[in-house]
Amino acid sequence: MTDSLPPLVALVFAGAFGAIVGSFLNVCIHRLPLGASIVWPSSACPHCKRELAWYENIPVASYLLLRARCRTCKAPISSRYPLVEALTCAMFAGAWWYYGPGPLLASRLVFGSALIVLFAIDLEHHLLPNVITLPGIVAGFAFSLIAEPGWIASMIGLLAGGGVLYLVAVAYYRIRHEEGLGMGDPKMLAMIGAFLGWKLTLLTLLVASLTGTIVGLSLIAVGRGSLKYALPFGCFLAVGALVSAVAGQPIVDWYLGFF
Ligand SMILES: [Zn+2]
Repeated sequence: MTDSLPPLVALVFAGAFGAIVGSFLNVCIHRLPLGASIVWPSSACPHCKRELAWYENIPVASYLLLRARCRTCKAPISSRYPLVEALTCAMFAGAWWYYGPGPLLASRLVFGSALIVLFAIDLEHHLLPNVITLPGIVAGFAFSLIAEPGWIASMIGLLAGGGVLYLVAVAYYRIRHEEGLGMGDPKMLAMIGAFLGWKLTLLTLLVASLTGTIVGLSLIAVGRGSLKYALPFGCFLAVGALVSAVAGQPIVDWYLGFF
């Protein structure tokens, strides 16, 4: 594709494709927590149930043209829709530019799309659906056979990532007799481990814990919540995984340079 297309055109194509994928991710984010099918029926207004016309389904543009309201019932449209579409568009264009075409690009795009869906669903419903994390673990390991980090690092990452959070969840339950960390979090970190390998998984956990603590303490400081109910940990795992996937290797190399 790069041989036949000027780089800028290819980048625009990647971004446009990303916006369309983002549209599909919105469907997943809306329907998976409801246990509804993601392929049928076609998109409708969640308020008045009217089926959307094609021009109401254009990523970002429709939201702006409709001024964030349903055309018929005037119910407000969540800003999550254009945000997810814009983010996915930026991710596809950015990853195309950063990785170039190849198996690693495909791996990172599948991984990033899964992280966007998990982030949005965990934020709204405090839920990390198995239909994303479990196939994600399989996909991450499958990609590791043809791309970074290789299948051995992927296997160790998968087991270590899932195992560490599983032990934390069990220990928390034994000590406090209540669920502090859901069982979705170990599966999500196992998925991250499968895609990124064990080194970047440890970094993910470190970044997630640090940002989680900082955000949690800030929310308490401004009186917006208690430490326990601050924000779901899956959101921070997604942020940590993004940082690790993009900038992780230089950080790990720098850190190991001390030994
Ligand atoms: Zn409506």
